[in-house]
Amino acid sequence: MRALVCEAAGRAALVERPDLVPGPGEVVVRVKAALTCGTDLKLLRRGHPKVPFPVTLGHEMAGVVDSAGAGAPFAPGDRVTSAVTAPCGVCRPCRDGRQNLCETAFDAPLWGAFADFVLLSPRLVRGAVRRVPDGLSFGAAALLDPLASVVHGLSRVAPKAGSRLLIAGCGPIGLLFFLLLRGKGSEIGVTGLERGRLALFATLGAGVDEAEAPFDLVVDTTGDPAYASSLASRVAPGGTLLLFAGMAAGSRLSADAFRVHYEEVSVVGSFHYTPADADRALSLLASGAVPTAPLLSKTRPLAEWREAFGEAERGDVMKTVLVP
Ligand SMILES: [Zn+2]
Ligand SMILES: [Zn+2]
Repeated sequence: MRALVCEAAGRAALVERPDLVPGPGEVVVRVKAALTCGTDLKLLRRGHPKVPFPVTLGHEMAGVVDSAGAGAPFAPGDRVTSAVTAPCGVCRPCRDGRQNLCETAFDAPLWGAFADFVLLSPRLVRGAVRRVPDGLSFGAAALLDPLASVVHGLSRVAPKAGSRLLIAGCGPIGLLFFLLLRGKGSEIGVTGLERGRLALFATLGAGVDEAEAPFDLVVDTTGDPAYASSLASRVAPGGTLLLFAGMAAGSRLSADAFRVHYEEVSVVGSFHYTPADADRALSLLASGAVPTAPLLSKTRPLAEWREAFGEAERGDVMKTVLVP
């Protein structure tokens, strides 16, 4: 089987690997669709504090169970997708219902979807893998992970109908926020640098951000601390800045404390998602409530991964579906 293995920052290649054989509780999935994501790009360019090299890239995927180990509740032929982690269920955050903050979930996340096959651990099989509903394509089902994150982000802020919203950053995450929030009587503005992506937002009905306007909810999807600080000043009295994108350890945010007190401006973080968020994401995809065509810009064979990464990095596309 082929796998896109990243040996070190900046060094990746599609290489031959031995066939995967599932042990007890494990499942081997034949990958049918794996999506490009900014996290894979970052991992390839500069590594990731939580993901040691070498690593097979790719974590947003759907496919067909090829073989299942003893005791795994799936059978060959099952169409499946997966969350990236499964909570342990016993640590303090898990017991408090905040499984997205599970202390061990990221010890062994799903990684390795840019390959012909991927092996899923017993923990993922028990708590992360889900059957793909009939009628949902593999490419759309592979959106489970990013959409679940966005579902979680919105659960942290619960915007009211008619709220004024600003989405900072015009990539796939910004687009998922937009697609979930539009039609709720809200005005939605978007900011960003990539013209092609901004044009797509405009065709879907997003407004242009007028640099003076205040918003009830501002969502940062850029992860740039200086920019996020500037966004704090765009929040209307009583409103919220949602820090959705990750920032490096030690990053500092600066906000006007006067406004945080006298105007009750809130700064809220959002990280990852719970199993309930993932279930909700899958049902939103299955019902068609979140249209996937604007997100899945292109389909390419896995062998064209370099082209796919390049066009994603340039902002020419939202996501590319890589098909092994
Ligand atoms: Zn991702
Ligand atoms: Zn836990």
